[in-house]
Amino acid sequence: MKLDAPLNTGVNVTLEMNWEVKIPEISRVRMGKYSDSTLFIAYWYPQMSVYDDLQGWDEQNFTMNQEFYNNFGDFDVKITAPEGFLIWATGELQNPAEVYSEEILKSFEKAKTSNEIVKIVTKETKNNLKTKKGKNAFHYRAKYVPDFAFGAALDYLWDASTMVVDVKTGRKALISAVYNEKSEDFYQVADISRQAIKYFSEDLPGVPYPYPSMTVFNGQGGMEFPMMVNDGSEPTYASMVGLTSHEIAHTYFPFFMGTNEVKYAFMDEGWARMIPYKFQKEVGKYNPIATQMKAYDERAGREFEVPPMVPSIQLEGPTYRMAAYNRPALAYLFLQDMMGEDKFREAMQNYIEVWKGKHPNPFDFFNIMSSFYGEDLSWYFKSWFFNWDYPDLKLSYSLIDGEKAKGKKEGIGEDEYVIENKGRLPLPVKIYLAEGTFKKLVYYKPASIWKDGKTSIKVKLETPGEMTWYQLGDENIPDVNRPDNVLK
Ligand SMILES: [Zn+2]
Repeated sequence: MKLDAPLNTGVNVTLEMNWEVKIPEISRVRMGKYSDSTLFIAYWYPQMSVYDDLQGWDEQNFTMNQEFYNNFGDFDVKITAPEGFLIWATGELQNPAEVYSEEILKSFEKAKTSNEIVKIVTKETKNNLKTKKGKNAFHYRAKYVPDFAFGAALDYLWDASTMVVDVKTGRKALISAVYNEKSEDFYQVADISRQAIKYFSEDLPGVPYPYPSMTVFNGQGGMEFPMMVNDGSEPTYASMVGLTSHEIAHTYFPFFMGTNEVKYAFMDEGWARMIPYKFQKEVGKYNPIATQMKAYDERAGREFEVPPMVPSIQLEGPTYRMAAYNRPALAYLFLQDMMGEDKFREAMQNYIEVWKGKHPNPFDFFNIMSSFYGEDLSWYFKSWFFNWDYPDLKLSYSLIDGEKAKGKKEGIGEDEYVIENKGRLPLPVKIYLAEGTFKKLVYYKPASIWKDGKTSIKVKLETPGEMTWYQLGDENIPDVNRPDNVLK
């Protein structure tokens, strides 16, 4: 549709349109019908295309694979539901007293002031009438968000509590989990979500959760929306911690920033993967980095891996997963290792402060990180994001005329070793002295050791005993060829 006349700066236009959406009978991961009385609705209204100063109008359509590039807007939405259905949506409910039954209203008001989780709907009360009689119009408002989604259910359970997300101002958010009673893991989700939001607000990125609510809805798969998450049930507590924290991390990237996920999914999924690592380790009691390393090692440097700067809309399947999730998450992790946790946090906070709501592109991020690091990091970003470089380090003896090169302290048992960066990707270097199942870290340098495209370094280490050997790297550092990391 074209306007009759061009729209000039500072002039408004009001568009009115009618449309309808068919809810898929067989639900897809991100929206649809999950039972005769459960729905999650997303991608349901006409979206305005984004106009930016880099590419003009964004004319890429949604193809079900890569995600979005959205404008920010204020939403004022009334959703009319049949009797008994509760609606949870992006934003804040404006009319609880008009739609909830007395019983639900009482618990809801309690949850809005309670640090403890309030069981608003339980197994025992799920069949009670939870709304006013007849149809009910739930009125939600959300300010300055890039999307709006909602869930509806007749007999879901609902746990909720409120927490201070900004300790300086005392600003609070209402955090809910709504779920099928058969979903065993979801009984923990209201609590996991609270802990995750606290972590994001106070640790990494250490920016107060920016919205007044978060509802994790038990649908299918794992998909983020502003203030809403649609998650399937997970088999273990650890995987539920992983999924919940990943989806909530998306609050910052892409939503708060307004990232162009159509082109730069690594600025979205890469962050949602990396930011909660520490949280997942502490709360989920597992190593999320090692867990993903196997998948990365299997495909890195092979046909299906492309540099993450290839526009995400061109990618699918494992190629998309590698470029959007695995590789950038490691790039951010090893950048944090180079900068140190505090400096990295400070840079992230600055990046968020400067670029929130302004649709940052990759260079905006690269530049801020360089300035906080104090040196141009182009060599690092080029290798990780633009080049076909891959993770492959090799450990060998430094040889002179075919003989092992002895270190300076000739005679007291020191050898010279070479670490070769065959794949050219800047990785941290860790060398362990190993014996049986025991290993001790004897050498460590962050990825900055490969600065400016250096491809080999020399290291002096004690000559190992007969039963000991040196091992380069570990389960937290990718490597497509691990056999050449061990020197026996
Ligand atoms: Zn994600």
